Amino acid sequence: MQEDSYRHKGMRQQLVQVLKDKGITDANVLNAIGTVPRHVFLDSSFVEFAYQDKAFPIGSGQTISQPFTVAMQSQLLNVTRGMKVLEIGTGSGYQACVLAQMGARVFTIERQRNLYMKTKPFLAEFNYNIKTFLGDGNKGLPTFAPFDRVIITAAAPEIPQALVDQLKVGGIMVIPLNDETDATQQTMLRLTKQPDGTMLREEWGGCRFVPMLKDLGKD
Ligand code: SAH
Repeated sequence: MQEDSYRHKGMRQQLVQVLKDKGITDANVLNAIGTVPRHVFLDSSFVEFAYQDKAFPIGSGQTISQPFTVAMQSQLLNVTRGMKVLEIGTGSGYQACVLAQMGARVFTIERQRNLYMKTKPFLAEFNYNIKTFLGDGNKGLPTFAPFDRVIITAAAPEIPQALVDQLKVGGIMVIPLNDETDATQQTMLRLTKQPDGTMLREEWGGCRFVPMLKDLGKD
């Protein structure tokens, strides 16, 4: 793993300030962003970009989400220590580490085999409570359900019913749902499961993610 120098730590604190200025208020989220070394999730040649508030390619046509997006989704999730959190779209593993740093027990699913093969051993180098799975996130992880929280980090064409079923009553799902008129754009939704099984829906503005795909990748 690449080293984490004082310079990196300094750049991280600047990023935390940028996120505060953009409206992130949850101290637990800001602390996690200030702690997890984002530069080790990027190719070493991109270290200079790691603490800019930008998404970045991680190979296989996928991206590590923009820090603001990671912070916003984490804040909307309202995670407290010990919660079981299901993440769809492991990607680089950065979001999973931010949630684990916040005290979550993270279960994360990736559909692309090559990303899964790369990220699984990489995440094992951290001391975080993260379990990685290869599979179709639309199906969730029935064996490990129910979850306190579900976070989807790819653009979803619909709200996957299996994930609603695997959420506890009172639990929260944060999902970028495709806009009906333009599937290249999404609206960030926070859904809270009601005692009768229906979902209370709050909309949190526009966003853009890589698509959530249904089948397992051949790669
Ligand atoms: N959370 C990631 C960013 C993910 S980008 C990070 O912090 O880096 C979206 C990821 O979702 C990609 O890796 C993509 O391969 C994955 N993905 C897309 N559809 C999926 C599905 N149905 N199940 C699981 N993962 C999926």
